[in-house]
Amino acid sequence: MSGLKAIIAGGGFGGLTAAAALAQRGWRVTVYERQAEVRAAGSGIYIWENGLRILDAIGAKVVSNETFRGRAMEQRDGQNGVIDSGEFPPDLRLVTVPRKTLLEGLRDAALRTGVDIRTGAEVIDASAGGTLTFASGAVENADLVIGADGVWSKVREALGLEVFHEQTLEGALRAIIPGTQAELGPGGQDKYIENWNGERRFLITPLSASEIYLAFTCPKSDEAGKQSPLDKASWGATFPHFAHLIDRVEALLPWGTYSTISVKSWSAGRAAILGDAAHAQPPNLGQGGGMAMQNGLALAVAMEGVSDRRDIPDRLVAWEQRERDLVDHCQKWSRLYGEVSFLPDDVRKRAILGTMADPWIRTQILKAARSHPTGT
Ligand SMILES: Cc1cc2nc3c(=O)[nH]c(=O)nc-3n(C[C@H](O)[C@H](O)[C@H](O)COP(=O)(O)OP(=O)(O)OC[C@H]3O[C@@H](n4cnc5c(N)ncnc54)[C@H](O)[C@@H]3O)c2cc1C
Repeated sequence: MSGLKAIIAGGGFGGLTAAAALAQRGWRVTVYERQAEVRAAGSGIYIWENGLRILDAIGAKVVSNETFRGRAMEQRDGQNGVIDSGEFPPDLRLVTVPRKTLLEGLRDAALRTGVDIRTGAEVIDASAGGTLTFASGAVENADLVIGADGVWSKVREALGLEVFHEQTLEGALRAIIPGTQAELGPGGQDKYIENWNGERRFLITPLSASEIYLAFTCPKSDEAGKQSPLDKASWGATFPHFAHLIDRVEALLPWGTYSTISVKSWSAGRAAILGDAAHAQPPNLGQGGGMAMQNGLALAVAMEGVSDRRDIPDRLVAWEQRERDLVDHCQKWSRLYGEVSFLPDDVRKRAILGTMADPWIRTQILKAARSHPTGT
């Protein structure tokens, strides 16, 4: 048991995974979350095989008999014609849950291992020597500091690690509606359905027997498309086969773009960054949260056996060397996939068909999902 102390900025997927995994290895851990409670936005999230292995490793109870497990990802055009239907092999699980379910499962796993979670605590500064400074003026010291404070990370900024932060031209509106799979029409069962029409994309993701997560993606220039409340007439006209689902949208997360973050290094001294703070990526592969959890667990594994804080900087360097290639790969392929959004319909159709038929490309796209995360 190390007895060392870690302080973590951010109680999201990455921060809570790192917290639980460190506490399981004998660390004293405090998570500082800016919001008044550990809370996730009202949408769904895809958890691939790699993420499921991590949840098992840290004992987070997220998946139940009610959880939706899709057997294929189907691409369709604006006339509801199937472009491609990619079945998942049995050894590659993919489930979808409300974000709240995932976050609460991680929070409870962290609490069970003795992690102290402080809410309403906004971090404004950090140092490589092991401190976090708060908006209240308070300063905390620890052997290890972790910045898991998301895309706009104050810890990354304070450590001067950023190389670039790029935002996409497209963005998404998201909602969870009541609905059943029977409403997805013939051939729509047990699937995730991604519909394309022009520069608009509409993703249908069942979450359970009674809830469906909808994502509406369009470019910044599409004024009607990004409107909130949802312009149901406009989206219903683009995807008429699913107008009955679109009509049901009430609460909607505001339209937002996606970020790509690139950094010089994942650590400086005894301070590390992980998750979106270090490697945010567009959501096209459904792996941003997976990578955040993967690196949170891997960081804790990298700290195994450390009893002297002077060893921590080298351990952090070794952690990055071991994990970074996969994260960079995943980020690159997620960005590449996003490029098909801007292709004309017929070109996109050919690109999707060609891509999905190519075993090498499929391997690249699924590399993170098929990986065996460190610590699992
Ligand atoms: C539209 C969309 C769809 C997505 N779909 C998927 C998907 O299906 N599967 C998937 O794996 N990923 C998906 N992602 C990506 C995923 O949401 C992120 O990669 C993931 O949330 C990153 O986790 P994180 O813990 O690093 O950061 P966050 O989840 O952003 O958590 C950061 C936490 O830090 C807190 N915080 C921020 N600043 C401070 C501060 N200064 N002080 C204290 N606390 C602070 C925040 O309140 C938050 O709780 C999607 C992203 C988008 C935009």
